[in-house]
Amino acid sequence: MDGNGERAQVVVLGGGISGLLAAWHLRQKGCDVVVWEAAEAPGGWAQTLPWPGPAGEPGWLERGPQGLLVGRGGALDRLLRALAIELRPSRPRGPRWLGKAGRRHPGPASLAGLLRAPGLGFGEKLRVLAEPFIPAGTGPDETLHAFFARRLGEGFARELLPALVAGVLAAPPERLGLEAAPRLKRLEAHGGLFLGGLRTGLERTRLPVGGTGALAQALALTLAERLGGVSTGRAARALEPLPDGRWRVHGEGLHVEAGAVILALPAAAAAALLRPFAPEAASELAAIPHLDLRLWHSRHPMVRGWERGLGLLVHPPEGRGLLGAVSFAADDPRGVPGLLQLRAYVGGAYPVDPALAAWPGVFRELRRWLPELGEAVQVREDACSGAFPLLEPGHGARVARVLEGLPQGLHWLGAARFGPGIPNLAEGVEAWAGALSMRGLT
Ligand SMILES: Cc1cc2nc3c(=O)[nH]c(=O)nc-3n(C[C@H](O)[C@H](O)[C@H](O)COP(=O)(O)OP(=O)(O)OC[C@H]3O[C@@H](n4cnc5c(N)ncnc54)[C@H](O)[C@@H]3O)c2cc1C
Repeated sequence: MDGNGERAQVVVLGGGISGLLAAWHLRQKGCDVVVWEAAEAPGGWAQTLPWPGPAGEPGWLERGPQGLLVGRGGALDRLLRALAIELRPSRPRGPRWLGKAGRRHPGPASLAGLLRAPGLGFGEKLRVLAEPFIPAGTGPDETLHAFFARRLGEGFARELLPALVAGVLAAPPERLGLEAAPRLKRLEAHGGLFLGGLRTGLERTRLPVGGTGALAQALALTLAERLGGVSTGRAARALEPLPDGRWRVHGEGLHVEAGAVILALPAAAAAALLRPFAPEAASELAAIPHLDLRLWHSRHPMVRGWERGLGLLVHPPEGRGLLGAVSFAADDPRGVPGLLQLRAYVGGAYPVDPALAAWPGVFRELRRWLPELGEAVQVREDACSGAFPLLEPGHGARVARVLEGLPQGLHWLGAARFGPGIPNLAEGVEAWAGALSMRGLT
């Protein structure tokens, strides 16, 4: 090994939540693991970044999730406990709205919202309430639209589902397979959405003290306790198989050799590294569509009644590209005292009206649904290029083909494999690590 080389049992490429989780589980098994992260900080999309207030006050924004959906006894719950991450007590939440038919209505995920839902006839509302009596019957290539139409009726799937799905997955339910929301199959297996929710335990949005980025920080910190840990500013450029069956990862002017390489990267980046050895797996990975989203962060004078935060989902045909908006509660330590901190989502799989390319257009669109919103005192736009994998019907079969095509010693993890949410990643990586023997790793 020359002066520019390192050795490890395992190298993880990508220091987002998937890569950090993989490294953490491997460390728990006593494995010597290093992480290479291309960016200057670990966390990938899950980072809490400083955004000082108008007078330079401390303040933050979230690059990705604003909160974590934690189910009691689930993989994410276990992880947060193992890392001793302190969670803020969940407080009563502020209003949740659906923007539809030109005005806002109560959020469709509540019973009140359902009973007053626009566009749903009386029979269609009764059909929603009949959900517990619908037998299980998920087909392998069922779309999210077909799943909800089967369980809650066509009316719900037509009138309410598009906004709910756009607000979480940024794409139309007709284009998404059930892999995009892995929990649904489990709920159906436990009696349906209502009964399954009760039986498997309700999930609640929780906030780690310090923001959702605290999860990545805690993982990186435990990894740094031993040699190796997370090396930032290190982008993997190429892989080279060695004659003894191990792998060499090449970076800028340095390399690392390991018995196993974990590709915890966006699918396109994993495909680029795999192409010379596994062209078929690489083509499958490269064919997974990824969506671009734009986030507008803004701070406004506080509005009475919105102190506990607000959530707005917009029926996509009416949003012209605005999918929704969400705000911090007034006592959220990430915000600036006295100001309402809003985040608006634009784009995803939906065409964006050119007027929404700049803040005045976004603000006008927001005011259609939130007329109380005052002029912004601060605005910031962030592009999330390729942030969301679009898991189409048939995605499960594609994942299986990728896994079959991976050469010995190479592994692939990430949102495009397990589903695009941190709870899915926690569960997927935990199951992956649990099924590994150290011999099976290389
Ligand atoms: C706006 C937004 C809102 C979201 N909201 C939620 C939410 O409310 N709830 C939820 O659960 N999830 C949410 N998500 C999704 C969640 O944040 C992601 O699914 C998750 O963070 C993905 O983690 P990952 O590690 O798989 O990928 P990434 O975070 O993409 O990490 C991959 C890492 O690999 C690094 N990398 C790339 N190329 C190389 C290379 N060649 N060498 C080394 N490193 C490389 C990248 O720099 C990156 O750090 C949201 C995401 C976004 C963008």
